[in-house]
Amino acid sequence: DARALPDFAGHEQIWLGRDRERGLTAIVAVHDTTLGPALGGTRVWPHGSFEAALTDALRLSHGMTLKAAVAGLALGGGKAVIVADPKTDKTPELLEAYAEMLAALDGQYITAEDVGLTLEDADFLRSRTPNVTGTTRGGSGNPSPVTAQGVFLGIKAALRHARGSEKLDGVRVAVQGLGAVGWSLAKRLRGEGAILTVTDIDPARANKAVEHLGATAVEGDAIITADVDVFAPCALGAVLSEETIPQLKAGIVAGSANNQLATADDAERLRQRGVLYAPDYVINSGGLINVAEELTPPGYDADAAMKRVAVIPKTLGAIFRRAAAEGRTTDAVAEAIAMERIEAARKRKSHA
Ligand code: NAD
Repeated sequence: DARALPDFAGHEQIWLGRDRERGLTAIVAVHDTTLGPALGGTRVWPHGSFEAALTDALRLSHGMTLKAAVAGLALGGGKAVIVADPKTDKTPELLEAYAEMLAALDGQYITAEDVGLTLEDADFLRSRTPNVTGTTRGGSGNPSPVTAQGVFLGIKAALRHARGSEKLDGVRVAVQGLGAVGWSLAKRLRGEGAILTVTDIDPARANKAVEHLGATAVEGDAIITADVDVFAPCALGAVLSEETIPQLKAGIVAGSANNQLATADDAERLRQRGVLYAPDYVINSGGLINVAEELTPPGYDADAAMKRVAVIPKTLGAIFRRAAAEGRTTDAVAEAIAMERIEAARKRKSHA
């Protein structure tokens, strides 16, 4: 029943890869290439159904189009999903089969790491086929410090907009999740005098922040209700919901986690509550900026990537001002900016 499938009319291309012998079921979704080649990571995840995997690939690739456009990159949006459990099913044979699929796509899709696909896996794919970014050998490697720097600068941009000063000294920040990005962010914040409240499901990570960064550790949802100025979600998605938004004490939400809004309505809930929300795909675009740097001649330069991240606070400042002037959510304004850039490029192309 075709009606059971998600709507893919907005997508340029969708590729299905299947190799029964080697256990591969993969979907590569190319959403839009108006601004450049489609780039986005490969997610390895045991989706319960093909429809769920397709929905994920469509949603994530659309998100990559918006992310690249708002970041001002000459890239389009794409994303791949391998339907497999990364812990048990991700065999060398499966990756080999996926590498062959990527090679057959011949550069129409450029991949990178994502949930379930490690840097080592990216290296393996790169040893078989080009159009793999974020590798450690000759590539940009771990994107997390660049993402953290972008979030750090984004928090300052939010403070500047909300308070007229980006000084972090004495500002209270709650960091949810002290993984690769959250820990790096927490160190940067502490370095400029912020007072930290932290949480992590791994108590060792929270304890490390208590010991080394003078943080206060809390458990579970106490991070949402913490009495702070800024809430930085750096763990899971859907943390901002009908249930959690009324409990927030922070006036600013600015963190690295993907898909922070549980539903599209939550952006309006935040606005109504007077909470300044830094759209997740804008503030966390440092990782994408980092891999995009690989594609810029003469090749990857870590310092150049760090410098390019300085575009994030400028973009966020423009989004905050426009949202305030137009009485719209920051999320709606970010999407509008992306669509305006894509539309302008489309017009330029059609006139060329
Ligand atoms: P990570 O896996 O290294 O860290 C996540 C941390 O969150 C871990 O320490 C984990 O224990 C903790 N955690 C998980 N569930 C939790 C919960 N319920 N409460 C508290 N802590 C919890 O991941 P990361 O690379 O640091 O990424 C963090 C977030 O940022 C993710 O949503 C990711 O998609 C997003 N992101 C990361 C990058 C990047 O460059 N790494 C780029 C863009 C977006």
